[in-house]
Amino acid sequence: MPASAFQPIYGRCECGAVRYRVDAPAEELYHCHCSRCRRLHGTLFATYAYVAGDQLVIEKGVESLATYHSPLASWHFCRTCGCHLLAEHEHNPGTMWYMPATLEGEATPGHPKESEKHIFVGSKSPCETISDDLPQFDEYAPPDVSVTSKKTPGAS
Ligand SMILES: [Zn+2]
Ligand SMILES: [Zn+2]
Repeated sequence: MPASAFQPIYGRCECGAVRYRVDAPAEELYHCHCSRCRRLHGTLFATYAYVAGDQLVIEKGVESLATYHSPLASWHFCRTCGCHLLAEHEHNPGTMWYMPATLEGEATPGHPKESEKHIFVGSKSPCETISDDLPQFDEYAPPDVSVTSKKTPGAS
């Protein structure tokens, strides 16, 4: 989706203390199955989208965010309801990651469909069965995967 056609989307935490706005389509979308993400979210996997840092605005409740620092990232939660809203990753400086699961209404991240993938499938929970056809990677996806998959098969 061209950035010019993108209408702002909104997300919020469960209790409503924190609300954010995203002004651009997400660059990529990941479903991460690593044990750290599972513990951070309390779910079998975590879904992330990201945009350039200045394309995400916290419209309400900055003071309600608590931050947990892990070795490679900072994770921002609502300190009242515990909802996990945002993250900043050292390996992706200048970007802001958000959780599409917290978007309001019918909003979607607007990411390129070929960018959607499962990562760290090699450490997924034994409780989980992945039942879609998205690409899967044992750890991080190689950086060229999205670019490669944009080519039409057979096209030169
Ligand atoms: Zn909250
Ligand atoms: Zn993870």
